[in-house]
Amino acid sequence: PKSHQGRIAFVTGAASGIGRATATRLAAEGACVVIADLDLAAAERVAAELGGPDVAIGVAANVADPLAVRAAIDTAVLAFGGIDLVVNNAGLSLSKPLLDTTEHDWDLQHNVMAKGSFLVSQAAAAVLIAQRLGGDIVYISSKNSVFAGPNNIAYSATKADQAHQVRLLAVELGEHGIRVNGINPDGVVRGSGIFASGWGANRAATYGIAEKDLGQFYANRTILGREVVPENVADAVFVLTGPELSRTTGLHVPVDSGVAAA
Ligand code: NAD
Repeated sequence: PKSHQGRIAFVTGAASGIGRATATRLAAEGACVVIADLDLAAAERVAAELGGPDVAIGVAANVADPLAVRAAIDTAVLAFGGIDLVVNNAGLSLSKPLLDTTEHDWDLQHNVMAKGSFLVSQAAAAVLIAQRLGGDIVYISSKNSVFAGPNNIAYSATKADQAHQVRLLAVELGEHGIRVNGINPDGVVRGSGIFASGWGANRAATYGIAEKDLGQFYANRTILGREVVPENVADAVFVLTGPELSRTTGLHVPVDSGVAAA
């Protein structure tokens, strides 16, 4: 049988980019997947693509809203009978310099990523603990949680918050057999919502290059010289939550073609 056969995954921000690729990979490996996203129509489209209600459902959830998070977790349990695997992926990057970063920018970044992933982990952990079957929580953090780059203070600070949530929850949930790990991607341009959101334009402006060249620009500064795509991050989620790494918790895996090591 496939390694994720019968597992039930709850993936936030799964209507686009890395979350969508992750949901697709987990479904291909036999998991049932809950596509939780701010954008319900897009979440439902992805769920339909993955095979419809027996395999995947779309739910509307603003991860920054505790009631919406609890309702989405309840919907997942009702639809599939439980939850085994949670991916905290929902996010956005405003990518602004310090002097342009408003209080609203700071709050939005932290509400969606630091608070949002906390709320999802908390609501899901209650289910995982009660089931007594262990489980996995994965955070899609960022290279920026560790390394400083330009024009990104609010985003990077909230990614560092997520990285510490990984370590704290690995310690707190370990006795329940729940593994908590993180992934630090960098430079995922193609296939993500980076251009539609304006984030790509901001990053390109920061580096003084054209938006269309951003993927190649990121690739050129890596050790491997290869662009990172959402599927590369999805592969890491699959491996981290599989049986081969059953003794690994509290780890962050870079998926960045080596840029953080260079
Ligand atoms: P994306 O824009 O393609 O997808 C993000 C998804 O999250 C969208 O579907 C959006 O609707 C959803 N979302 C946003 N706010 C939400 C909220 N409040 N509640 C629920 N859903 C919400 O972005 P992506 O590039 O796939 O990024 C996914 C994650 O990966 C983010 O956490 C991002 O910070 C992280 N990441 C991305 C990169 C990169 O280079 N693209 C690098 C490192 C980390």
